[in-house]
Amino acid sequence: MPLVFASQNEHKVAEIRALLPKGWALWSLNDLGWTEEIEETGETLEQNAQIKAQRVFEVTGFPCFSDDSGLEVQALQGLPGVHSARYAGPEKNDRKNGEKLLQALAPYPNRSAQFRTVIAFVDAKGIHWFSGSVKGNIIHDFRGDQGFGYDPIFVPEGWDLTFAEVEKSVKNKISHRAIAFTKFIEYIIAVEK
Ligand code: IMP
Repeated sequence: MPLVFASQNEHKVAEIRALLPKGWALWSLNDLGWTEEIEETGETLEQNAQIKAQRVFEVTGFPCFSDDSGLEVQALQGLPGVHSARYAGPEKNDRKNGEKLLQALAPYPNRSAQFRTVIAFVDAKGIHWFSGSVKGNIIHDFRGDQGFGYDPIFVPEGWDLTFAEVEKSVKNKISHRAIAFTKFIEYIIAVEK
């Protein structure tokens, strides 16, 4: 039985496929021929991850997982959080999102933030959760041109460089996504085979 990643992002799917041992079939939504738009109407990362994984499991009967990530800024009570991609508007512009965040945060001395990834995995036994986070600080301007999203304004705890100033391979070793997916893959290999 295939394992389905409720994602249309083939880069993400390929990354996870590479982490699975031989013998596992990992399908993306495209591999399934999935055409239905699943609206991410949740108010939390957890709700959005669950909506997607549950819907695909309901329709196909295949075990399915979905991830949702965001940047949670302490002084802004966790915003942009689940709204990270569209914080400055529906066009999902990384630069505008970052600028809006720097503006919103300007009055606050507390610049603490964390990136957080949640994975919801749904199979016949129910729903299983995995998460990963990286704490750090929001700086006052943009630095670096690697990565995406809020990477140029986020410096992880213990670092001097932003996520956008280091090689992708370095960030990918310690990222919130890497932590959550490592936990998920360990689980799936140990329990589901
Ligand atoms: P997604 O759930 O992985 O699509 O992430 C949603 C949004 O959160 C992205 O569009 C980015 O704005 C932000 N985000 C998530 N992960 C990262 C990251 O590793 N670096 C920078 N921004 C991120």
